Amino acid sequence: MKYCPDCGILLKEGLVDNHLVKRCDCGFVDWDNWVNVCVMSICFNEKNEFLMVTLKGNEEGKMTFPGGFRELHETIEEAAKRETLEESGYCIDNLTLFRVFNNDARRLVWIVFRAKIVSGCFCDNCETKDARFYSKTNPPEMEHMRGKITAELVTQLLNDPMIL
Ligand SMILES: [Zn+2]
Repeated sequence: MKYCPDCGILLKEGLVDNHLVKRCDCGFVDWDNWVNVCVMSICFNEKNEFLMVTLKGNEEGKMTFPGGFRELHETIEEAAKRETLEESGYCIDNLTLFRVFNNDARRLVWIVFRAKIVSGCFCDNCETKDARFYSKTNPPEMEHMRGKITAELVTQLLNDPMIL
């Protein structure tokens, strides 16, 4: 950041709490900790099964939960609803915060919700090739998980006493 978002004047370097930062005399400090925000939704049907999508493209066959980058004009929950609809065809509601992850190397924060499916069915799209429901009695195959976060979330769900 170059200019103070409050005053519009050039920020200057200085020490705040022993951190070398860019700051303004008005009190504004640029902590240089910006992140891109991603959302992810663990969506449950009426049988309390959870939804996972299978990816197309360069991660062909990998499984994950619907999600993606929040756009700047959206609330975090709107982003989660939009990404779920785009990638799975399902409309969700009753979102509650479940987990938060960060990846500093990629300047990412993942905000993970649990949500209820209210309507919809899988419809073909450019990112996923199917969307299916899983449970303890019908678990997804762990070797197909997209990455560490997805695997950790699935493990947590399969250990959740609320899921049959
Ligand atoms: Zn200022």
